[in-house]
Amino acid sequence: SFVLLNNQITTRENVKIDMEDRGYNFGDGIYEVIPIYDSKTFSMDEHLQRFEESAAKIEIKLPYDKSLLKRLLNDLKEKNNITNGIIYIQMTRGVSPRAHLYERNVEGLITGFCREMPFPVEQKHSGINVFLTADIRWLRCDIKTINLLGNTMVKRKATDENCHEAIMHRDGTLTEGSSSNLFIVKDKILYTHPATNLILNGITRQKVIKLANENDLTVVEETFTLKQLREADEAFITSTTQEITPITSVFGDIQANFTVGPITKALQQFFKECVEKEAI
Ligand code: PLP
Repeated sequence: SFVLLNNQITTRENVKIDMEDRGYNFGDGIYEVIPIYDSKTFSMDEHLQRFEESAAKIEIKLPYDKSLLKRLLNDLKEKNNITNGIIYIQMTRGVSPRAHLYERNVEGLITGFCREMPFPVEQKHSGINVFLTADIRWLRCDIKTINLLGNTMVKRKATDENCHEAIMHRDGTLTEGSSSNLFIVKDKILYTHPATNLILNGITRQKVIKLANENDLTVVEETFTLKQLREADEAFITSTTQEITPITSVFGDIQANFTVGPITKALQQFFKECVEKEAI
């Protein structure tokens, strides 16, 4: 398969990463996952914008501009002949003798690949179980860093408990999922955690808020508690790969059950139409 290495599309055998790459030593890097629908990308600009913002937050420089990156990612998708799936791109701070101190504004090392990946049709229709547990992550969850140990540990725990995703709370305030954002619906109003340092501001989250507003649904970007989750009418997660997936059961720190409700279904329909219209 073809992969991206800095500004070149090459084969995977040609990519050798140094053992003192800071991504490998420290998780010192950032990434994005961009969806491909019907051989077209969706929300590429928004993802590259966030990629640039994550880079700025940790003081890494893109080695070339966003428009070249966009062209390379489109080439990568075409060379790999992906119909439905994802583009993964990451940038680390590159190679330097291992030491905590980093130099500022060094050029990053970029790698990327594409993968065919079916979107979860059955889960979107029937919903998923989620495992609710403490948010054990750091205080800069707004950065889309490859340093994901807190996320992977809760995901492992959720899977061991036969749940599809982990959702997390800080002292009783819901934050997000291990790789998704969280919404609840109560009396026709949507609630989701505000875009602070405690969550990743998902591109899908932002789309859902926009689509809800355009369709006269009220979205409140305020924190909500375990009690509000338990008493909600509907709950769902959002992400690039999960799109809008309803939650039907919560296990772990509280128990709750939901049906796949009318607002979740309406948003799924708006999202589908949006993809059909905007994928290029
Ligand atoms: N929150 C976290 C922690 C994530 O890792 C992700 C995606 O991987 C999301 C939210 C959803 O973001 P997006 O909708 O941009 O895929």
